[in-house]
Amino acid sequence: MATIRASCDTCGDVEFAAAQVTVHAPEHSGPGTYTFTCPHCRDRVVRSADRTTIDLLIAAGVQLATSRPPAELAEREHLEVEPITHDDLVAFHRLVEDDAALAAALEGIDDPHPR
Ligand SMILES: [Zn+2]
Repeated sequence: MATIRASCDTCGDVEFAAAQVTVHAPEHSGPGTYTFTCPHCRDRVVRSADRTTIDLLIAAGVQLATSRPPAELAEREHLEVEPITHDDLVAFHRLVEDDAALAAALEGIDDPHPR
């Protein structure tokens, strides 16, 4: 199995077997991270990596832990929601300052932990 060389923050350049590394990345494209335990100080090291590095690590026999983007990201793409503006923030600030309006707004929210 291939030997991987990487940098530990404490020990500098270290070498270890590909089996000591785990890649966390989307299955087919995009950047990701890889993690390894330093063979000298036993620290867990996490490094970000571009896709070229990810593909090289996978080709060297490193275990790939695929990641899927959270479903909320896909859902968000279909929503026509405008980003929060400064005016929204001012309106929220005024609402929070107005005890009666705040109480009325809170009345409308379902209590997830009713007593
Ligand atoms: Zn180290």
